[in-house]
Amino acid sequence: MEIFIFILGTFFGSFANVCIKRIPYGNSIVKPSSHCPKCLVPIKWKDNFPIISFLILKGKCRNCHADISFEYPMVELLTGLYFLGAYIYFGFSSAFFISILLGLYLIIISFVDIHLKIIPNILSVSLLIIGLILSPFNTVVINPLSSVIDRIIGSVLGALSGGILLYLIALAGSKIYKKEVMGGGDIKLIAAGGSFLGIYNIFSALILACFIGGIVGLIFVILKKQKLSDFVPFGPYLSASILIVFFIQPCLFPFC
Ligand SMILES: [Zn+2]
Repeated sequence: MEIFIFILGTFFGSFANVCIKRIPYGNSIVKPSSHCPKCLVPIKWKDNFPIISFLILKGKCRNCHADISFEYPMVELLTGLYFLGAYIYFGFSSAFFISILLGLYLIIISFVDIHLKIIPNILSVSLLIIGLILSPFNTVVINPLSSVIDRIIGSVLGALSGGILLYLIALAGSKIYKKEVMGGGDIKLIAAGGSFLGIYNIFSALILACFIGGIVGLIFVILKKQKLSDFVPFGPYLSASILIVFFIQPCLFPFC
């Protein structure tokens, strides 16, 4: 079963690659079928297996031998491992299905944000709506013993509080630094995260994201890969933190 879940995850990773490349440009994720970005020749089904095809073709297009980005098999592997981890951790439960949907979205959002430094509304807003719709089944949003009504309220409050708090931070930051320090995309993403995590957990995720972002940023500055004043996409840190909190639900507040 574990192997099946992993392979299923790599196929979803393949789908994530298509979304990462097309959604920011408003292109259909169904048509046209996958093709080489260089020579535009459609990729045959036998060359379209996640990870394995990349290895067999040694990372080159079968037709024009152009290099295929290493990112494709990386996203497939990441998604496969994530699905496997979610299955081992949650078993077959509502939390498992919600976690793989949330994870898939956040993987796509992170890579789009890394490439283009934007989080498209169609991704963040649809994730927010899905979080609200699934809240009756989401036992992570408050606690497993809560009633369905509690979960719905928790999801709405999580989305509102996360969104509003980050909006205020962004507003204060732009006043202090006289430039935009946090994009509107981040605010919508934290609101979406709040709809999955509830009010207390979303604050934990936000604190964790700043912490991870600070450490990674510092390492990059030390390695001279970036300057302190550089704009760094916050989406990947937020995404990772939302997932970590969804899994372990640490409690940073005494009353939750
Ligand atoms: Zn080609």
